[in-house]
Amino acid sequence: MKSSLWIEEIYDGFCGVKFKVEETLFSGKSEFQTVDVVETKGHGKMLLNDGLIMVTERDEFVYHDMISHVPLFVHPNPKSVLIIGGGDGGTAREVLKHQSLERIVQVEIDAMVVDACKAHIPQTACAYENPRMELIIGDGVKFVKETKEKFDIIMVDSTDPIGPAAPLFGPEFYSNIYNILSDDGIVVSQGESPFLMADVQKSMLKVLHDQFEVVKIYNFNNLTYPGGLWSFTFASKGLHPIRDFKPERVDGSKIEFQYYNKELHTGCFAIPSFQRNNLEGLLKD
Ligand code: SAM
Repeated sequence: MKSSLWIEEIYDGFCGVKFKVEETLFSGKSEFQTVDVVETKGHGKMLLNDGLIMVTERDEFVYHDMISHVPLFVHPNPKSVLIIGGGDGGTAREVLKHQSLERIVQVEIDAMVVDACKAHIPQTACAYENPRMELIIGDGVKFVKETKEKFDIIMVDSTDPIGPAAPLFGPEFYSNIYNILSDDGIVVSQGESPFLMADVQKSMLKVLHDQFEVVKIYNFNNLTYPGGLWSFTFASKGLHPIRDFKPERVDGSKIEFQYYNKELHTGCFAIPSFQRNNLEGLLKD
C-alpha cells in the first residue's frame, strides 16, 4: 500500500528523527512486540520493533561492523560466538565473514522479527541461509542461565531496556554471561547513546565493572539512531581491546568492511570527555 506517512522516533519528548515512508511492507504483533517493515524514501527498508527503529538498509553496516569485528579482532583465536537478539541477521552476517569460527549460535526471542526480515530485508537476513549458523528462537536470558556451553565471544544485540530486553541490561544476566564465557572470553553489548542515555550507560558499566576484569566502551556514528553518536560496551576476562589488538590480523583477514578498519579499531575507544566524566571510575584497564 502506498503511503504519505512519516515515521518519527521521538526521544523523551524533546528531540527525535523523522523518515519519509513510501510503503508499508509488513505489520504484525507478536507476543513480545509490534514488528513493522517499511520502505523509506531515503534509507531503504527499515525494521521497527514497538515503533522504534532497529535497522535501515542505508546505514545498518555501521552498527553491524562495530558489534562484530571489534571483539573478533581482539580475541586471538575465536572459535565460538553467541549472539543474543539481533533478529534482523546483520550481526550474524558479519560474524560469518570470519572463516575460522567453528560455532555460531544466535538466540532471538521473536520469530516474527526473523520471518519479517527474511521476507523483506534480505540484505541482513541473508545470514540465515548459511549452514554455519544455528538460530534458536528463545529467550536469551533463559539461554545464558541454562546452557552448559562456553563461548569465546558473546554479542548482545538487543533493543532498548524495555519489555523482554530489560533483563539484558541487569547483573544476573551478566553474571550468567561471565559463567558461559571461555577463560579469555569477551562480551560486547549495544550500549545506547552517550548524549541521550547517559544514565543507562552508567548503570551498564557499573554492572560490568562489578564482574569483569577489563571494562571499556567504544563509540560509532550513524545516520539513524537519535543523537547520531552511539556506543557498545566491551568487557572481558583479561583481553584488552587495544593492547591485545593485532592490526595485521585485519589485513590478513581479507574481509571487506564498510565502516570498520584497523585505524578506527583503536580510535573508537577514545571517548569524548563528557562521556568519560559520566563514566568516571567505571572503566577498567
Ligand atoms: N540494532 C538494533 C538496535 O539497537 O536498535 C537491535 C536490533 S535486533 C532487531 C534486537 C532484537 O533483540 C529484537 O529482534 C528483539 O526481539 C530481540 N530481543 C529482545 N529481548 C530479547 C531476549 N530477552 N532474548 C533474545 N532476544 C531478545
